[in-house]
Amino acid sequence: MKESAESLNFIEHIIEEDLANGFPQEKLRFRFPPEPNGYLHIGHAASICLNFGLGEKYQAPVNLRFDDTNPSKEEQEYVDAIKRDIAWLGFRWANECYASDYFQQLHDWAVKLIKEDKAYVDQQTSEQIASQKGTPTTPGVDSPYRNRPVEESLDLFQRMKNGEFPAGSYVLRAKIDMASPNMHMRDPIMYRIINAHHHRTGNDWCIYPMYDWAHGESDYVEQVSHSLCTLEFKAHRELYDWYLDQIYDSNLLRPKQREFARRNLSYTVMSKRKLLELVQKNIVSGWDDPRMPTISGLRRRGYTPTSIRKFSDLAGIAKRDNVTDVSLLEFCIREDLNKTATRVMAVLNPVKLVISNYPEGQSEILQLENNPEEANSGTHEVPFSRELYIEREDFKEDGGKNFFRLSLGNEVRLKSAYIIKGESVIKDDAGNILEIHCTYDPETRSGSGTEASERKVKGTLHWVSIAHAIKAEVREYDRLFLDEAPDAHEEKGFLEFINPNSLNVIKEAYCEPFLANATLDDKFQFQRLGYFTLDPDSNDGKLVFNKTVGLKDTWAKQNTQAPTQNQAKPQVQAQPQTQKKALNEIQQIGKKLTNLSGEKLETAMNSIREFAEEVTYEELEPLFGTAAKKTGTRIATMLALGVLLNKGQAKNQAILDFIESGKADENEILRAESEKLS
Ligand code: ATP
Ligand code: MG
Repeated sequence: MKESAESLNFIEHIIEEDLANGFPQEKLRFRFPPEPNGYLHIGHAASICLNFGLGEKYQAPVNLRFDDTNPSKEEQEYVDAIKRDIAWLGFRWANECYASDYFQQLHDWAVKLIKEDKAYVDQQTSEQIASQKGTPTTPGVDSPYRNRPVEESLDLFQRMKNGEFPAGSYVLRAKIDMASPNMHMRDPIMYRIINAHHHRTGNDWCIYPMYDWAHGESDYVEQVSHSLCTLEFKAHRELYDWYLDQIYDSNLLRPKQREFARRNLSYTVMSKRKLLELVQKNIVSGWDDPRMPTISGLRRRGYTPTSIRKFSDLAGIAKRDNVTDVSLLEFCIREDLNKTATRVMAVLNPVKLVISNYPEGQSEILQLENNPEEANSGTHEVPFSRELYIEREDFKEDGGKNFFRLSLGNEVRLKSAYIIKGESVIKDDAGNILEIHCTYDPETRSGSGTEASERKVKGTLHWVSIAHAIKAEVREYDRLFLDEAPDAHEEKGFLEFINPNSLNVIKEAYCEPFLANATLDDKFQFQRLGYFTLDPDSNDGKLVFNKTVGLKDTWAKQNTQAPTQNQAKPQVQAQPQTQKKALNEIQQIGKKLTNLSGEKLETAMNSIREFAEEVTYEELEPLFGTAAKKTGTRIATMLALGVLLNKGQAKNQAILDFIESGKADENEILRAESEKLS
């Protein structure tokens, strides 16, 4: 192994140790074992990325094994959804296996155990059995049937299998040790009678194996070398081993179980039972509702496989239970989409803007950069005309000194178009603004190369041409729960913490016509608003977009305030626009920085510092990776970093590295600014 020891997680350490002790690498084999009783969630993704990640790393096969031993809760729909989700994440299983394929083998092994007097049929009620279990400090009591003759157990087990008894009347139990300090060893149940149709074996069976009996033996059948499961199974390991001991052939590989901590995520619930409850009570629209922590929900919301795998990487594999903050997941998708999403313009809360000196009936085609982060992404066409929509929040009659958007007498740039100046407003009787009138400077068209076009103004607004705009429905989502750990309260159920405003539907948003051709796989940044993707509810006549995530973490600030009932308000309205656009603005100004000098450079650097007040560290950090040749962006990032350090941001390794790289740069300004921070 070339990698340094530090980068290994503890499971990898275990494997490395086994290899070092002579375990042949070609015998490594893993499995992901979902029970098909619900859709996969982001917690499962941890296990998927771990197992399939090990498979990739060690070039070992990874089986997808459906743990389908409880027909009353399992369905084909779930099998299909699970396969779809794993494939979408980008993983390929070696074999598609089912515990139900081993029912006969498991049955035969159970018969062997009975014959060896290591299992017996009990006919007490489940309450009686439970009452004899004892406690961890007091031994249990033997069942009166524990020592029934082998022949009798064999006969009863056969009749259980033949369907002669009603559910609950008989069970098969392993005969181990009713005094074991490990409660799982006190004659655990191996089989129970369930009269239900199984999604694969139909009505062939009416006895079904318990998880502990089925799981380890399935691992053995498949010759899985490392059976990785979550911590709650740690106490089951002794039983896992005991069962294997009874059937193990020393010429074959003997699987071993190792445990890691469950992935928990703040502000949501993760058990399939609870997620099913949300679906069944119509609190969400289905398993793939974009607010659900399911893989299918995240996909519909606009998450990418890359972002989920990155999240799994960053959250890591832990030995102890912990909760990962959902903002890390949001950070991962933001970072991915920043690199890949096509920049477009859409207006969600429109107000009409009339450019009074632009000729009536005229329009022109402008070019909008598809992605400033991606050199070869090109441009697309946007029509411009005399009447536009802009966001209502982007205008104030009298904005004051710190308002960098449009106000009367002030200039802003319309993105990729012209500089305009606010002139007057038309209002209705109630004082609501109906139209904003402005003038434009024809010399200032973006990219025209004129001196006027290089002129710097404080703000840039997105817009759409009214005559060319297409309508869309836009769905904005907030966290589904208002509490960080909704299912961790003893006296309250998780449903009491539902955020009543987790969905905000904008029925009439206006988009640039480019979006008419959007497909479900496309990812967009609506300039200054966030990342969006098309929802499958869209059809020929109707576009529906889901908001994946905003441009910045709006919760980070919100949470420092005392929690009040107001927290239920949709974030979008609670947060001023300036926060969303700050980082964007910094990047925009940064790109042009190296063309400026003197006073203009000073002004630009100052506005970067101003915008930096609105930026979080998490948001800024991805810019540390900006390509070396994008010097302007790197200077802007360094300036913004200076502001964060001033505000008390601690210097971590990423910061130190970034400063060092700046100090070694060819560019004088970048060197000077980096020196100041070191
Ligand atoms: P849930 O409690 O959500 O119903 P489960 O453990 O019953 O989950 P399974 O279908 O049995 O769900 O899980 C398949 C695999 O995924 C198991 O190996 C399980 O340990 C793992 N897994 C389930 N939830 C998590 C989680 N939150 N974090 C990490 N691994 C998980
Ligand atoms: Mg389970």
